[in-house]
Amino acid sequence: MPCCHTFLRDRQLLEAELQAIDGLDITRNVPLAPLTTFHIGGKARLFLAPRNIRALEQALLSLKRHEQGYRILGNGSNLLIDDAGVDVVLSLRGLTRHLAPQLQFSRGLEPIGVMVEAGMSLQRLLAWAVKNGLSGLERLAGIPGSVGGAAFMNAGANGTDISAVVEAVLFTFPGESHWYSRDVLKFEYRRLVTPDDAVVSAARFLLMPCSVPDLMRNVRVIMGRRRVTQPIGSKSAGCVFKNPEGDSAGRLLEMCGLKGRRVGDAQISSKHANFIVNLGQAGFDEVFELMTSAKEEVFAHTGIVLAPEVAVWRDYV
Ligand SMILES: Cc1cc2nc3c(=O)[nH]c(=O)nc-3n(C[C@H](O)[C@H](O)[C@H](O)COP(=O)(O)OP(=O)(O)OC[C@H]3O[C@@H](n4cnc5c(N)ncnc54)[C@H](O)[C@@H]3O)c2cc1C
Repeated sequence: MPCCHTFLRDRQLLEAELQAIDGLDITRNVPLAPLTTFHIGGKARLFLAPRNIRALEQALLSLKRHEQGYRILGNGSNLLIDDAGVDVVLSLRGLTRHLAPQLQFSRGLEPIGVMVEAGMSLQRLLAWAVKNGLSGLERLAGIPGSVGGAAFMNAGANGTDISAVVEAVLFTFPGESHWYSRDVLKFEYRRLVTPDDAVVSAARFLLMPCSVPDLMRNVRVIMGRRRVTQPIGSKSAGCVFKNPEGDSAGRLLEMCGLKGRRVGDAQISSKHANFIVNLGQAGFDEVFELMTSAKEEVFAHTGIVLAPEVAVWRDYV
């Protein structure tokens, strides 16, 4: 069994190296379900939580040196995690620094640059922007992701996406970090093209001064619309499938009569056919079976192949 021994020794060496990193919290066997909006998933064998970008750089360096794979966790709002859990998770929730200029000195019509680390909640950033009379994020009201996850997924709604207000992204690589300005960033539908080995560790946004009451009204309208059209408050991971070019996945799923279909405690929402909700004890298999059968039926009826929007984490198959 030399192979197994080598693996264990290398894992011990990796863990010893990680322990030595200043600003990195390490925990074993961390339940992931409570860290997701779906409330589904097993444990992370090793859970790494950097408290600053330097610690993230060092953690990525050690993982690379030991050829250890890992998953990046933001706010867990677009994830379906296997009940068997996953091996190594790098959570960015501890990166929440937020740098804005002295707003009282820059009240013209010029856009204002705001730097935010990846772990900050997008909704907290939006609330801060509204309070300070800064416009640009309102149409993303209600998206429960982190800033890093929203940038990585190019999260969007109401005819816009986050790329519209991103001025630059800080990519962290093993041992180093670099700002990429918007002219070199490549945003696509629900995706930021990311260099190999890179993690989004911060972003800079350009926000426009605007009246606070106007901003509050816009956010209220958008949230009101969400409450009517989406199963807000249920356990879900948002839209399960990406919209195919020129169409809506929700429309296709509804047209195939899939609203309300259930496998165990996983159900296609009767409010919005592109949401699967966890009615209580749904596990990975139930959701996966529902996704697979829905995809097959849409293909059989329309010839369109739906692609998942939700990120599926499965390490042990
Ligand atoms: C009720 C509800 C409504 C939603 N509405 C919308 C909507 O209107 N529009 C929309 O676009 N989405 C929507 N979503 C989905 C989700 O909120 C977004 O995709 C969000 O951007 C995901 O961010 P996160 O931090 O939760 O990422 P996670 O779910 O933690 O991760 C998602 C993926 O991004 C990767 N990732 C996360 N952070 C980083 C990082 N910093 N660097 C590199 N990779 C990273 C993860 O590894 C994973 O592959 C909704 C979800 C819910 C539950």
